[in-house]
Amino acid sequence: MNRRELLKVLLLGSALELLTEAASARIRRTVIYSVRYSSNGERTRIVLDCSGEIPKRRIREKLKERELWLEIEGAGAVRRLKKKLKSPLVREVTVYPINRRRTKVKITLKNYHRFKIFGLKSCRGKPFRIVVDVFPEFIPISCKVRRVPKRVVVLDPGHGGKDPGAVWPVRSKHPTIEEKRITLSIAFKVRKLLSKRSDIKVVMTRTRDVYVPLLKRAEIAAKECADAFVSIHADSMPNYPQWSGVTVFKASPHLFAKAERTAMAVAKKIRICNDVMCWSITPTLINLSTTVTFAESSKLAEAIVRDLKARVNDDLVNGIRDMQRNIVVLKTPGRPAVLIESGFLTNPLDRRRLLRSSYQWEIAKGIAKGIEDYLYSLNNVALIEG
Ligand SMILES: [Zn+2]
Repeated sequence: MNRRELLKVLLLGSALELLTEAASARIRRTVIYSVRYSSNGERTRIVLDCSGEIPKRRIREKLKERELWLEIEGAGAVRRLKKKLKSPLVREVTVYPINRRRTKVKITLKNYHRFKIFGLKSCRGKPFRIVVDVFPEFIPISCKVRRVPKRVVVLDPGHGGKDPGAVWPVRSKHPTIEEKRITLSIAFKVRKLLSKRSDIKVVMTRTRDVYVPLLKRAEIAAKECADAFVSIHADSMPNYPQWSGVTVFKASPHLFAKAERTAMAVAKKIRICNDVMCWSITPTLINLSTTVTFAESSKLAEAIVRDLKARVNDDLVNGIRDMQRNIVVLKTPGRPAVLIESGFLTNPLDRRRLLRSSYQWEIAKGIAKGIEDYLYSLNNVALIEG
């Protein structure tokens, strides 16, 4: 080996050394290398895949208007990553590499929403992930004063399309009974009954067998400035086949307290309107508006139960229950809302009854009369507007 060759080998060696050093540095350095998401009506999940773990304290969040910013210390990004989302909640996610150990992430929300950020440890071949879950949060939408004093009722036939709701036989792939058909059929009957009134406008969240996300349903209630929002469902309780009858649910007070807190956080002021005028109130008074809504939802539920009892066999009306679950459609501040479970597909008698047109009419008549009675009582109550 002459000097020249020796030099070559030496140079190559140090170059190799440098290369491996760089490679191992790259392995040690944590980078965000991809953005993924999934979305359904209730939640949009954004996932940032990372090459290493990032402690929660290294992730700072900041909400600027409708932009949620994450500042991540201790991680770079392979390059600028941008993703447009097909989601009702989030428009876009962009990952901006600032330097090798700092990254900013911009999540553009379509509206004010709740979110949750957490890390998922690497497992079963999956890398460490930063997860951002975005949940819908209802906020009041401004309502125009109605020129013609018509009351607006939004009827919400539960489920639809890819979501059949409860089915019979339970968990069957090819069910003979689907909740979505029963709810639509009852809702049509209620609409028919209410349409006879020239002073009531009926809006339906769906009139076909289509999937409508829950947020969209609540939005329809808000945009239409509904005086009453009535969601129609049928239940399934495989472990309690003896359970039967119609139940009317209203949101429990603590759900309203939650909605109120959000409203406080985002609303500068809200307006209270009746049919002829509006006036503004400050957030300190929002408490009042949600209390009014809660009281109004109870009144609507009571009226429907009373009228159901007059039409459907008394024993079959279970009365009013507080909905403990976090139901989006019942969280409409300013819009009185109830959810009606018209019967149990898991109860043999209910199952037969619910398919009968005559029984569906009985329930529909009870619901329609209850809504009418409630609206009548409303004449002197101010409507709450966002
Ligand atoms: Zn249902």
